[in-house]
Amino acid sequence: MSDAYPYCELFGFDQKAIDIRLMMMDMGAAELECAEQFLARVMHPCQQQIVDDFYARLMQKPEFMHIINQGGVDLAGLKKTQTAYLATLGKDFNTLSYFDARLKIGWVHYQVGVPLSLYQSAYRILQEIFIREICSLIAADDERLAMINYALKVSCLDMSLAVSAYHSTTVNNLEDSLRNIQYERLQLMQKASTDELTGLPNREVVRKRLMRELIDLRNHKHGIYLIMADLDYFKTINDEFGHLTGDYVLKGVAARIRQSLRGTDMVGRYGGEEFIILLINKTEQQAELIAERIRTHVNEAPYNANGEEIDITLSQGLACAYASDTADTLIERADKALYEAKRSGRNCVVTARC
Ligand code: GH3
Ligand code: MG
Ligand code: MG
Repeated sequence: MSDAYPYCELFGFDQKAIDIRLMMMDMGAAELECAEQFLARVMHPCQQQIVDDFYARLMQKPEFMHIINQGGVDLAGLKKTQTAYLATLGKDFNTLSYFDARLKIGWVHYQVGVPLSLYQSAYRILQEIFIREICSLIAADDERLAMINYALKVSCLDMSLAVSAYHSTTVNNLEDSLRNIQYERLQLMQKASTDELTGLPNREVVRKRLMRELIDLRNHKHGIYLIMADLDYFKTINDEFGHLTGDYVLKGVAARIRQSLRGTDMVGRYGGEEFIILLINKTEQQAELIAERIRTHVNEAPYNANGEEIDITLSQGLACAYASDTADTLIERADKALYEAKRSGRNCVVTARC
């Protein structure tokens, strides 16, 4: 926010916006002249009377009394503020500083919970009092009419600025809420697509990506490969060291698989101690090298859980996607290759042959 005119900045009033607002109110050089006259001939001589009448009328409104009673608002203080406000009514109304002060008043009233309808009703009362005072003070018909016209315009201007402040503050608050909701929605979506234990995408996310890649298969220079990977004898880890230690190892394995992948390749937790790995735009040789890199990395150092050194190995089934494949047929082929890897003694990669 600009230091000089923070409320103009907050509610988007630059000199151009000010000019547009004044044009809508039919306020120009003639009204600037009237402003001086109004302050000198009506406001200054009757200021106290106007303020007293204004509050006497306002106190008949239950909405006003509700605010007074609820907030313990000091009436004398309010009258003082209103006197100062009226003393500058319309003075240099075409300036940033005038707009800033008026927008601030609207903003403050919004913050303390004054309803806009009460605000508008207060302006209507003010207008009535102005007209009465003008009629009693100015005898010449044309002067009187001009002064009434001006008083209505300037009070409408101030009211319009209050409405702008109310409206923009409401919109800003709604935008803030919307941003919060969108952020929470994003968090929820992220949570729904992430496996809580390992932080990896869950099986549905990888499956959806696989489906997209299969549609796109013809656009790839090389193939798409899928690995189904399963920890070897993981049950014995749980049995020997407990489920929590098992969880710790599972997290460690997930991290190591992720570290072994590059670029657009992805790994997800398929369920239990199984992982699904998607390799994009690879030759068979590259895919086998990656699978081998994963296998070695998972096993190259033990997992240290509370002082226990735990070794783990991984079996993998690798399958290449064909144009006729669906996600399910490809997963099934990789699964069969995984089964072969288990049968062949585990801690190895088996590539599916058609
Ligand atoms: P294999 O080499 O044949 O795959 O043997 P395995 O023991 O790994 O396979 P099995 O299917 O017999 O057991 C899998 C174990 O994985 C059993 C289950 O309790 C454990 N498991 C699955 N999900 C989790 C998990 O989230 N945390 C822990 N700690 N263990 C899990
Ligand atoms: Mg398993
Ligand atoms: Mg297993």
